[in-house]
Amino acid sequence: MKIENLTFQVTAAAGIESLTARELRDLNFQNVRIDDRSRIFFDGNFTDMMRANLWLRTADRVKIVMGEFQAKTFETLFDQVYTLNWEDFIPLGAKFPVAKAKSVKSQLHNEPSVQSITKKAIVKKLQEVYHRPENQALQETGPEYRIEIALNKDFATLTIDTTGDSLFKRGYRQEHGGAPLKENFAAALVLMTNWLVNPTRPFVDITCGSGTIVLEAAMAALHMAPGLHRHFAFENWTQSDLQLLSELKIEAQGLAKRDLSLDITGIDNDPQMIAISRRNTLALGLENVVKYKEMRLQDFTSAQLDGVIVSNPPYGERLLEQEEAQALYQEMGEALRPLKTWSKYILTSNESFEALYGAKANKKRKLYNGTLRTDYYQFFGERPKKD
Ligand code: SAH
Repeated sequence: MKIENLTFQVTAAAGIESLTARELRDLNFQNVRIDDRSRIFFDGNFTDMMRANLWLRTADRVKIVMGEFQAKTFETLFDQVYTLNWEDFIPLGAKFPVAKAKSVKSQLHNEPSVQSITKKAIVKKLQEVYHRPENQALQETGPEYRIEIALNKDFATLTIDTTGDSLFKRGYRQEHGGAPLKENFAAALVLMTNWLVNPTRPFVDITCGSGTIVLEAAMAALHMAPGLHRHFAFENWTQSDLQLLSELKIEAQGLAKRDLSLDITGIDNDPQMIAISRRNTLALGLENVVKYKEMRLQDFTSAQLDGVIVSNPPYGERLLEQEEAQALYQEMGEALRPLKTWSKYILTSNESFEALYGAKANKKRKLYNGTLRTDYYQFFGERPKKD
């Protein structure tokens, strides 16, 4: 089984690719690179793939790259797909659905045809390798190997997904009300702050909702692997060494810095959201790490210095009416202005945010919260004066 020397593609939301690549480099993966289409790759073996799934906070999926080639006709597509070593991964009896094809600026633009030709070529290859008659469909009852084909400017990339449900599904969030952020996006917001440089400083989400941001902050600071409590597609594969996976999980648990003393608070004025946050916190065993307060952000004050605020307030598009959001941003500006040494990071789609809040951000970063275009407004705190 050829499960060494593999290339993996890691997918992440548009705008956060450089963070995901940084995560991969920090985790010591080999040959981490971002190509001219913002696609992220690294090289490794099967164990590396398991580690990436367990540890990546900002990514969506980890896929095995089976091959890349130019294909301008269906004949070439068929022949090239057929040439790839599918039998290295897909055993006889396995399911191998080909997902809806994606075609961008390519001659082969009929996606359903691309999808079905790809499937046919793999079927033919496996029938030959496993000596099955051509006139008989392959039984697909075993573990699932989900195949994807993406065409871009006539260049095809064939991958097998190792992740299954997207990595944002960590398994700790049983319920969510309101407009929760995806866990991997919340982690990205935390990784974009300067808080992890010194995570004993106060960290507050003044509109915490179901607690996603504060929980991702706690997990990152405590070095808790985000994938410990979930299942991955690769676990059903015949080539998976589940003993090795449990060793990687035990190693991950050993690396968690549970005794680090943190000062993390989630604030929300909706008692139901605070209750949901508390339940999610219990699911992670972080009830002694993350505190919650039911209060209005307008009433937030602190005598501490050098804290970090991250907030994903209502945008006025989905949760509150525009006018209410405007009043909220003005009051937010007034409440946070006295906290001169604190750094503040606010995500919103409202383009008048700075005017309403009453200050110009030091840095603004365009991000997509799902399909919604937002900006991450970053206000850096003044250095605390030493006396
Ligand atoms: N990031 C959160 C979702 C935040 S939605 C998550 O992932 O779950 C915005 C939250 O702001 C809602 O939970 C809402 O109750 C809260 N909110 C609205 N007005 C507020 C105010 N004045 N003070 C505190 N919280 C407020």
